[in-house]
Amino acid sequence: MTKTQVLRSIRDAGCGDLIKHTVSCTHVWEMTTLKTHCGVCSQCIDRRFATLSAGCPDSEDPEEMYDVDLLRGERAAGESRTMLESYVGTARRVKNMADATFFTEFGEVHRVTRHIRGMKVDDAASRILDLYKRHAAEVCDVVAKGIQDHAQDISNGRVPSTCLLILALPDEYKRPARYAEPSLAPVLVLDEIKDGETNRGLLARIVGSERFEGVNKKLGSRELFFASLLFRSSRAHDFAGERITVVTEEEASQELLKWSNDGYLKFSGKDKDKPAYRVQKMWGEFVRQIGKEKNLKQLFTNVHKSVDGQRLYAIRLRPSEKQIAVTSIPALFQKSTA
Ligand SMILES: [Zn+2]
Repeated sequence: MTKTQVLRSIRDAGCGDLIKHTVSCTHVWEMTTLKTHCGVCSQCIDRRFATLSAGCPDSEDPEEMYDVDLLRGERAAGESRTMLESYVGTARRVKNMADATFFTEFGEVHRVTRHIRGMKVDDAASRILDLYKRHAAEVCDVVAKGIQDHAQDISNGRVPSTCLLILALPDEYKRPARYAEPSLAPVLVLDEIKDGETNRGLLARIVGSERFEGVNKKLGSRELFFASLLFRSSRAHDFAGERITVVTEEEASQELLKWSNDGYLKFSGKDKDKPAYRVQKMWGEFVRQIGKEKNLKQLFTNVHKSVDGQRLYAIRLRPSEKQIAVTSIPALFQKSTA
């Protein structure tokens, strides 16, 4: 029987009132007349889980008897908190554990099963498994009911962050939000050239700020090809102290075919059917053209390769920086083909 079941029998026998007079705590030296239980040692934890699980009302197992409340009490860091976390964590795992996994993980069970008189080893094993599963389910139910009962307080941030209701949340919920994008400063903007530009070959410009203050590089369609790909790419990596945004040669080739089919970039000669080769030649041209603006000279590189060996075309900024394209940039392509 689990402790919960023991308590249920006591209550069913009409003796629930006796429960509060029993003492489980091992930290007797900390006892006061009011707080007879520390609420921190493993006996206290076991006891309180069991009384809550058995549905004992406050009159039978008063909350104020515990120095630290099981569900909402603040818990100092250290051994007892770790013990409680692993107690609940183990219960959660055992509850959903396959039988075979259970007997592998809790190998010590086999040392007991042989010595239970009048019971076959298999029967003993299956009853021990059942006992563990029942206990695990009881613990999980107490936590779930606690979260339910205190939903308002949790939702309003009114329970201590070190109380069991919060500690018991699955780890995935408590990781720092390390996937969140740090806030990056846009230092280069790919912007549309508004009216007043007589040369229709120049469609867009790269405008700089912060360390690129003063940059105003106008782009023709050949430079815009790479600039629009890179400025709109969301594939950024922090690598060797730099923030590197890339497009693969495959992506660039696909895009080039589109531009070519739309009549936006015209090719002739034998390169026509070899977009990747064309992309490579255009990249060299692009880096040369962009490099005429001194501040942009070192930003573009094709030295990186993807894991599958593809050449990558990249813009390199600092980890705190990013490049953005104004939303009207894609419209430029429609405009020019219309
Ligand atoms: Zn205790």
